[in-house]
Amino acid sequence: MTPALVPTLVQLNRPLPPLTYLAPEGLPAWVRVRVKVRNSAAVGLAMGPDPGTPAVKLRPIEAVLDPFPLPPPALRELLAFAARYYGCLEAHLLPLALPQALLPRWETEDDGQRLAFFRDSGRWASLVELGEAWHRDPSILPTLLHRQDLRGAGFTEVHLTGRPHPPRVTPAQAKVLLTLEEAGGALMEPDLLAAAAVGPSVLATLEKRGLVERMKRMDLLGQRREAGRDRVVALSAEQRTALEGVVLGAFGVHLLQGVTGSGKTEVYLALAERVLAAGMRVLWLVPEIGLTPRLLDRLEARFPGRVAVGHAGLNAGEKHGDVVRLLGNGADLFVGVRNAVLAPLREIGLVVVDEEHEGSYKSEEHPRIHARDLAVKRAQLEGCPVVLGSATPSLESWHAAQTGRYKLLRLRERPAGVTLPKVEIVDLRDAFRAARRKVILAPTLMQALTENLARGEQSLLLLNRRGYENFWMCRACGKALGCPHCAISLTYHRGDFRLRCHLCGFETVPPEACPECGADHLRGVGEGTEQVEEHLAGCFPGARILRLDRDTTRRRGSLEAGLLAAEQGQVDLLVGTQMLAKGHTFPRLTLVGVLNADQGLKVADFRASERTFQLLTQVAGRAGRADLPGRVILQTYSPDHPAITFALAQDFEGFAASELPFREGLGYPPFTALSLYRAEADTPREAREALEAFRQRLSVPGLRVLGPLEAPVPRVRDRWRMHLLLKGGRGALGEVLRRSPLPPAGPLSLDRDPMQFG
Ligand code: ADP
Ligand code: ZN
Repeated sequence: MTPALVPTLVQLNRPLPPLTYLAPEGLPAWVRVRVKVRNSAAVGLAMGPDPGTPAVKLRPIEAVLDPFPLPPPALRELLAFAARYYGCLEAHLLPLALPQALLPRWETEDDGQRLAFFRDSGRWASLVELGEAWHRDPSILPTLLHRQDLRGAGFTEVHLTGRPHPPRVTPAQAKVLLTLEEAGGALMEPDLLAAAAVGPSVLATLEKRGLVERMKRMDLLGQRREAGRDRVVALSAEQRTALEGVVLGAFGVHLLQGVTGSGKTEVYLALAERVLAAGMRVLWLVPEIGLTPRLLDRLEARFPGRVAVGHAGLNAGEKHGDVVRLLGNGADLFVGVRNAVLAPLREIGLVVVDEEHEGSYKSEEHPRIHARDLAVKRAQLEGCPVVLGSATPSLESWHAAQTGRYKLLRLRERPAGVTLPKVEIVDLRDAFRAARRKVILAPTLMQALTENLARGEQSLLLLNRRGYENFWMCRACGKALGCPHCAISLTYHRGDFRLRCHLCGFETVPPEACPECGADHLRGVGEGTEQVEEHLAGCFPGARILRLDRDTTRRRGSLEAGLLAAEQGQVDLLVGTQMLAKGHTFPRLTLVGVLNADQGLKVADFRASERTFQLLTQVAGRAGRADLPGRVILQTYSPDHPAITFALAQDFEGFAASELPFREGLGYPPFTALSLYRAEADTPREAREALEAFRQRLSVPGLRVLGPLEAPVPRVRDRWRMHLLLKGGRGALGEVLRRSPLPPAGPLSLDRDPMQFG
């Protein structure tokens, strides 16, 4: 007997609430169905009955695509939790959790069967086939860059250049362009050739005509993997204690604190080994894949063939192909960045969050999830332990460990032979008085650099500001040249002679005279990495200098290439922004100089001190390895600030003890939770009124409400921004969400547990 058709909610992969269709009674939630939206076919997820809607005039679904619900149960609960907590629709989270190939946004009649390409059999897989493969092998992971692709000498990606098509292209060329367009603009070369069924000469012609571009992607991992197998180390007593402190098979949150190089990764590896041996899977989060090649190496060496890598930087074409490459090629250990916390893994036995303090775990776009916090929730739903690790834990996690909510595990020593670097301070006020002008590199640092170069060792200089000069101002009228669309000044980039807005990307050729008063007294203020690089080249003509910041690493793979060159000793002086502070080990790096250690303290953010301390401690940890002692020089105008003095002593615990009372006194996290309501509108008045109206409606007791106030940068991309900050308990802030949900469209958006206040 065929089941009766009843009104059923169907969630499309689009940021809209579910629609209602007629579907067989008893259809399990989270199976995929094909439906008609207006006249196009689309794929959605059944979300259960909708008894509120009368059956009349409803369209029936076209087909049920899966025999079972698609995502695993714990993930379904996690998605529901995250949607409630962050005040978004589950539909907003779906694209982060499921690969587009399984849940496409649209399914047109034409490409309904062409969702993914089977490389081996040379044909397109249907949606149903993909779903079946998924059910057969639950370890198939979505949106992955599989290790297969990371091996070998490198691979070439073909992009559309975006140039308008000329009037005449051959049918073969048209096929290539169309295939690329359908894939979102880029594909791996072999995939493209197979999909378009053309030969390489077609690509060559298109490239000559400027319609496509071929890019070699650095294959970092392939090169390194040659370097060989991981040696299995005998764990130290401390490491063993940490390892035994984690109880498998039950939920528990652990904070593993230990300086860089103290052996935290060895502890995660040992835990992962136990979990994999028990037939369970490991979800391993890292802040950024590009900066952790050595980790991937170690994982692959330790668990050959069982590791898969999720990558935030994948484009549509890659994601597309990757799902398919994975079919029949499961993995037990999934390493990924932020969104990987929503990966549809099953039977997770361990969650690792490495460098748990890193800001990149928090999304700064809607939905503004925090992967570390969701990782804890996920472990709870999976009934497994989660290990948060860091040399400089977030004060949130540290406080939780101090108050017994998290279990604290510590590694206090580095393995034998590795010593902590010597950190010293240079007071820039003294240096200024002595030189009678602004000093970029104080004599102490200059001398240390000279000596280091003479010894053939490597030095790293950190300045957290890119560009040549921070801004230009007119000495006649005092005005700074600002962005016409944003309330910030433009940064001068000498390399391409542009003034550029770092928020919206606006750029202009620098004017000869002040646009305000016409005087030709414009001058640059505040040096950036570009200027430091030039300065160094002047001081050390023979030195090999490499600058790494967002300007020099725009091209994909260039950061990895630069870091690799530095690691292999092809660089004498590394200069760059905070991207240098993380993850990497440079074997011959013995000197770290921070040009302006208190730069980050000047921003209006209650975490400024914590971030500065973390950055300084992390970058200091880069200096010195086993046989070469390291030296760290911090140039600062505020040598007495706790963020500086505790970094000098490399004393995390001392820093936390000095910072926490201040947080408690002012009612900031970890003692109070925050919800930041942001308004964006065409006029400041509109933005303010939207927040004021929202404020009027607030009826939850026990909240402190601040604002509406102008955002620190009150205008970005011609939109005016105001903030309303709610302080209170998590429960009360959640209650606000329930009582006063925000409409999906409109000037207001919510940032729970905000990390950035810009
Ligand atoms: P972290 O993750 O805390 O930065 P790692 O686990 O990466 O530290 O360890 C740093 C280095 O010390 C690595 O090269 C690692 O192989 C080595 N190491 C860690 N533990 C031991 C040990 N017990 N014995 C010998 N070497 C070790
Ligand atoms: Zn701008």
